[in-house]
Amino acid sequence: MKKELIFLGPPACGKGTQTSKLSEYLKFPHVDTGSLLREAVKNKTPEGIKAESFMSKGQLVPVEVVAAIIKRRLAEPDCENGYVLDGFPRSVEQAQMLEDINKSIDKDDAEFRAVYFDIDTELLVERIINRKSCPKCGEIYNMKFKAPKDGKNCDNCGTELTQRKDDTEEIARARFDTYNKETAPLTDYYEKKGILRKINANGTIDEVWERLLKAVND
Ligand SMILES: [Zn+2]
Repeated sequence: MKKELIFLGPPACGKGTQTSKLSEYLKFPHVDTGSLLREAVKNKTPEGIKAESFMSKGQLVPVEVVAAIIKRRLAEPDCENGYVLDGFPRSVEQAQMLEDINKSIDKDDAEFRAVYFDIDTELLVERIINRKSCPKCGEIYNMKFKAPKDGKNCDNCGTELTQRKDDTEEIARARFDTYNKETAPLTDYYEKKGILRKINANGTIDEVWERLLKAVND
């Protein structure tokens, strides 16, 4: 049966890494909404041109346009057995849009599942405020969990590590608050439908991966 998988979880919860891995493992396309939007703009598809007209004015792309881009992508033949969708939906309204999209595309029965990455916010704040990266080769470090050998410079190329300006505790907490406000209703929505799977996202990449596989396969 076709498997349609979506993912919920706060910023920096490890969702991106895990969903890429999952799409490779299941041989389903990894449909990332952000990349999809950039691609549509670059390729000047009808929706891409529309999206660009908002972006060029510094406005948010309307959700209907984003949904149209997603619909076109999910209707492609490589999504026939399933897909791993990242970055959408982010609200109940968007969840209903996705249901309509699926209905219009699905030929037979499909199994839809929402996986929620449940993670301790304090741990995420720690992760973000200790994050540094190499401006030259892009290697990412964590001064607490994965520090460079000399405590200051990149192990690969010796360049001094830098920190992103918005990786502060205050900004991190504000982002989590926004996320929780927007997403809590969505989690309830899927829970009531009986299609939500919560996984414990505290732990190593391998530990979370094992839990993710279980949540997707059971
Ligand atoms: Zn480096």
